Amino acid sequence: MGIGDRAAVAGACFNDYQAWFDSLSATDATVVIDLGTVIIRAFGAPAEKQRQWDEIWRSRYPEWGPAAAGVTVSSQPREIWCDLRQDRNGNLILPPHVLGHELLHVLRLQDPRIVDPDRLIDDIY
Ligand SMILES: [Zn+2]
Repeated sequence: MGIGDRAAVAGACFNDYQAWFDSLSATDATVVIDLGTVIIRAFGAPAEKQRQWDEIWRSRYPEWGPAAAGVTVSSQPREIWCDLRQDRNGNLILPPHVLGHELLHVLRLQDPRIVDPDRLIDDIY
């Protein structure tokens, strides 16, 4: 797949996701959530991500598995862990789909009216 094709796929995925969101049931609810401090830890190097995950969290919770693509820790302050890439100018890219998913976890910890992103599809359909 060429670069133009991959750009088109990424754009189409975003538009498809937005079209899907627009198709969901409407609500009159309003949400205002002050997140205070949320720590985002994003890593370009998987080994460094694992090393810090082991040092910061698995040292305290050895039963926790290896660092996943995206993780929310319900600590105080909350933490979101994810991967990192870069564009051709060196600007860092956090994965929007993962960040959105994990941010929903953080929001739900503040406001239980917010959907559990792990049950998102099951609870819609
Ligand atoms: Zn999740």
